[in-house]
Amino acid sequence: MADKISDKKEQEIERLIRQLDHKEHELEEKYCDVGKSIMDKLEKENQEIGHMVDEVIQLKRKLIKAKGQIRCPACYQYNEADSIYCSRCGKKLEKKKNDEQQ
Ligand SMILES: [Zn+2]
Repeated sequence: MADKISDKKEQEIERLIRQLDHKEHELEEKYCDVGKSIMDKLEKENQEIGHMVDEVIQLKRKLIKAKGQIRCPACYQYNEADSIYCSRCGKKLEKKKNDEQQ
């Protein structure tokens, strides 16, 4: 059967196989480039988000300190400065002056 395929047809088939290989290789490289750029972008965004989250945490801590809030020793809930009982677990809170936490 193979003998019946003319040289011209064989050449055409080889040419198509080479073209296909080349295109598939190009496609693979494209996938790699896209994947890499997404990973780079994600890493950069992740760093930025991490930095912003840190800033929010710092601001919250400063606010808590400025308000003189009391941290519950049992559940770590922050309560208003004049609270007697924890708003979350109900434990009696002890007032401390110049509470240094963290
Ligand atoms: Zn509590």
